[in-house]
Amino acid sequence: MKKNEMRLLFDSCSENESFARMVVAAFITRLDPTLEEMADVKTAVSEAVTNCIIHGYEGREGKIELNGWLRDRELTVEIVDKGRGIADVEKAMEPLYTSRPDLERSGMGFAFMEAFMDELKVMSAPGKGTRVWMRKRLSRV
Ligand code: ATP
Ligand code: MG
Repeated sequence: MKKNEMRLLFDSCSENESFARMVVAAFITRLDPTLEEMADVKTAVSEAVTNCIIHGYEGREGKIELNGWLRDRELTVEIVDKGRGIADVEKAMEPLYTSRPDLERSGMGFAFMEAFMDELKVMSAPGKGTRVWMRKRLSRV
């Protein structure tokens, strides 16, 4: 089995949404994913990082962790913040639920992550932070 692991820590700011997206894209490039798979992974990571910035840290300073693992053609990514956390994860994951309609959020971030990845797990504790775990198997070309 071919394995690879990466870990990254960066500041919570909007410039780092595209940075995180590009890092994950670069991480999976050697597997030659389809354009659709590449777009799916980038969107899912971007949604998770945006959530850390907007909801986790609410625009304040903080650190975001991005961890990635490859086992053959299976990608696992984790996006972690130590922000405000989520009181009711089940409710937060419902499509169209947003705690910030004032910011014109549409409440579709988790729904996209779920749709674009094969597996999604959200672990969170109020006042401690949130960990989003996602997995996707890349097709064989
Ligand atoms: P959209 O992603 O469509 O702009 P949204 O961010 O509100 O809108 P989701 O990404 O699905 O929608 O998240 C749903 C809700 O879960 C958020 O409104 C927020 O209350 C909560 N949430 C998500 N991620 C975090 C996080 N990292 N820290 C704290 N709360 C979060
Ligand atoms: Mg969101």
